[in-house]
Amino acid sequence: MKIDQVSDSVHVVAGTNVNWALISDDSGITLVDAGYPCDTADVLDSISQIGHRPADVQAVLFTHAHLDHIGAIPALIEQVGMPVYTGAEEVRHAKREYLQQITPTGMLKQLLTARGRRWVAHTLWAVHGRVGMAVPQAEAVDPVIVAALPGGLVAIPTPGHTSGHTAYLMPSEGVLFSGDALVTGHPLLPHAGPQLLPAVFNHDEALTYDTATHLALAHAHTLVPGHGLPIRFDSPRIAAALEPRPPSPRH
Ligand SMILES: [Zn+2]
Repeated sequence: MKIDQVSDSVHVVAGTNVNWALISDDSGITLVDAGYPCDTADVLDSISQIGHRPADVQAVLFTHAHLDHIGAIPALIEQVGMPVYTGAEEVRHAKREYLQQITPTGMLKQLLTARGRRWVAHTLWAVHGRVGMAVPQAEAVDPVIVAALPGGLVAIPTPGHTSGHTAYLMPSEGVLFSGDALVTGHPLLPHAGPQLLPAVFNHDEALTYDTATHLALAHAHTLVPGHGLPIRFDSPRIAAALEPRPPSPRH
């Protein structure tokens, strides 16, 4: 775990190949995303390391219901009982009314490369025993409620990676939490920098691309992605990095 402060109120924590963010003010903390199940202890520890207690968490906002973004939520609900929000469509995904994630075949294909084999081993360990987890307590983001939480966030529908994927913008400090709609690195990607995740992860590749090109126009100073390092938000650089890819079927 590595904690970086990227603005007055925002700490970004790098966990197991995934990030979560802590936004703090006098009234407490908003947690954006929650790591893998194996990151649960680190999520709680990161709250302590920035001088707060788990009870200070006012709400968890998650970008989407993949296991690497919801891992610590059950423990936090049990300990703190705070509300949990995501986009209205993603609520259905979080309740596992349907599932949009890399398939077993898609995982197996990663075994063809050394980089992929390392990622598969790491991932199987990170979700061990929790593959079937859901977030039945998830509620749809209400703009008024979310604006009143620490950070004063605005939810932005960002469909593609999942149908209900939701990014969050903190206008007061210019921080965009892009989740997996736009990342800056991943163990399966050969280089760092703003880009899409590999197509095997995206439910709708063409829509993921369209969404990312729109996100590149956001009014922000700092990009906090779900995977990879936070970077200065540079619209032209992001737009230039997003080269169209032909839609590919999910494996
Ligand atoms: Zn994801």
